[in-house]
Amino acid sequence: MKETDIINYIKKFGIEDEDAAYIKNDEYLCFTTDGLIFSTDVPKEMNLKTAGRKSVLMNLSDLAAMGCKPLLFLCSLNLSRDFSDVKEVIDGIHSACKEYDVKYAGGDVNEGKLSIVGFAVGKSKRILRRNAAKEDDLVCITGDLGRVYCYFKEAKIDIFKEKVFNPLPRIKEGQILSEYANACIDISDGASKELNLISELSNVRIEIETLPIHPSVLKTSKEKAFDYALNSGEEFELIFTIPKKYKNIVEKVNATVVGRVKSGEGVFYKGKKIEKRGWEHLG
Ligand SMILES: [Mg+2]
Repeated sequence: MKETDIINYIKKFGIEDEDAAYIKNDEYLCFTTDGLIFSTDVPKEMNLKTAGRKSVLMNLSDLAAMGCKPLLFLCSLNLSRDFSDVKEVIDGIHSACKEYDVKYAGGDVNEGKLSIVGFAVGKSKRILRRNAAKEDDLVCITGDLGRVYCYFKEAKIDIFKEKVFNPLPRIKEGQILSEYANACIDISDGASKELNLISELSNVRIEIETLPIHPSVLKTSKEKAFDYALNSGEEFELIFTIPKKYKNIVEKVNATVVGRVKSGEGVFYKGKKIEKRGWEHLG
């Protein structure tokens, strides 16, 4: 079974398709888990401290997509018997938690295939859902796209490496957007997939006119740049939809307006349908 089929099976039990699960008391509490598997998710050039950091940052990005302030991080460390550098992994986890003012609350240690399975908790007064895009909303993306794909496909240069090794979860931006935006999702698997998820879950059509392609991506990959930006995974930028009257907020979170929400279905660029591509586990 591939990832989408597994998710569809889980959804039969009434579980929603979101970046994080939540419960509501006075505020929403959100919970997310995301694992970093060394054999598939960690490039050879990445040191263990950076891998530890990344396991935190990818979980915080899911909380950012829900508009949350992150509070706490736990993880299961799965290690082989002969693995001697666990302190570096833990130091990386601790440094990322400290940087984002998140409590590192330990977790569990197991013997197994090298991986860090993270779990994070956050809170917000209002949360951002994938299913909440409204007709006429502006569609926006924070930061820039394409550098992760370029790092793996084109060149191991610093400007690309930076985004792979030290992604910046859009925590502050997510918290600002929690007051104004309608739908939101973070880019884990690629913008084409995430845009299609918002479109499907919100029952709307999304028309894209542009993408915030990084200048170095344009320079390196030329005519392939748009395709790279569209399908670049682990960018950890936020895609959100927001009413036009909050256009000033788009600038405040360093985002670009890339298109509009319309009635209908599907994601389109200049009349051409954008298929759901990007990363699919077990695909
Ligand atoms: Mg996500």
